[in-house]
Amino acid sequence: MPRKLSHLCFLIPALSIATLVCGASPAVEGSREASTTVVIDAGHGGFDHGGIPGQRIPEKEMTLDVAQRLKGLLAASGYRIVMTRDSDVFVPLPTRVAIANSYQNGIFVCIHFNSATRIGADGIETYFYSRNSLPLASAVHYFVAGGAPSPNRGVRRRGYYVLRKTTIPAVLVECGFLTNPNEGQYALSPSYRQKLAEEIAAGVRGRFSVTSTLSSTRVATGESIPLQSYTDQTNVGSSGRTRSKHSNKRSSRTKSSKKKKSSESTGSEASATPKVRES
Ligand SMILES: [Zn+2]
Repeated sequence: MPRKLSHLCFLIPALSIATLVCGASPAVEGSREASTTVVIDAGHGGFDHGGIPGQRIPEKEMTLDVAQRLKGLLAASGYRIVMTRDSDVFVPLPTRVAIANSYQNGIFVCIHFNSATRIGADGIETYFYSRNSLPLASAVHYFVAGGAPSPNRGVRRRGYYVLRKTTIPAVLVECGFLTNPNEGQYALSPSYRQKLAEEIAAGVRGRFSVTSTLSSTRVATGESIPLQSYTDQTNVGSSGRTRSKHSNKRSSRTKSSKKKKSSESTGSEASATPKVRES
C-alpha cells in the first residue's frame, strides 16, 4: 500500500536518529526497568462499549485484547504488570486513576481505538497531559504510528480524565479508527492487534531513548507540540458528539486540528470541558 511505503520512508531515518540519542547505559536502564510497574488500562468495558452509536466493531473488545497482549509482552520483559481490567467489566475512571496512582514508580498506558461519524477519518494518535508524560507519549507514538499502515495524527496534549488525574507518567494511545473500513479491518485481525501490542511495548521499553531531539515528523517534540490547554482543542469542533475529524491526511499535523474527538470522551475518559461528553 502506498501509505505503508510512505511510512517506511521516514521510519528508517527516524530510527537511526533514535539510536543515536540513546543515552542511558544498559545497566542503568536495567535497574530502572526492574522496578517499573506498568499499569495497563483497557478502555471502556462492560456496558460501556466505547465508540459511537451503531458502531459495528466493539471498541471495548479491541482494547482489552490489545491490553492483554501487551501484558504478556511486557511481563516477558520483566515488567510488573497491573491491569485496570482484565475482563469485560466496567471500571469507573476514578478507580482506574486510583489504581495507577498507587504505583508511584509506575507508568500508565491507556489503550483505545478511535471512532468518527465520517468513515474516512483514520490514523493513529497519542495523548498525554503532564509534561513528564511526554517522553512516554513520544516513544509509544513513535513505534505505534511507525508500525501501523495508518496516517500519523501526531501526539496531542489533552486533559482526559485518566491523563489529568494520574500522577505518574500516563499516555493514551488511539490505535486507529474502528469506524474506518480499512482500520476496522486491521483491528479485527489478531495478528494486527499483536503488532499493535508489540509496538506499544517497544514504546514503553524505549521511553528513555526516543527523545525530544528527534526531528522526525512522526515524533512529538517538546518544541513542536505546543502544550495547549485541552479547552483550546475541544472548542475547535462542533460538538463532542460529532467527532468529525478533519485532518485526514497523514502525519505530523499535530496542531490545530479541527479535529474533534473521540472515543475517550465517550463514556469514559471524559475531558473536563462540557464540549466533550462525560460518562
Ligand atoms: Zn475509547
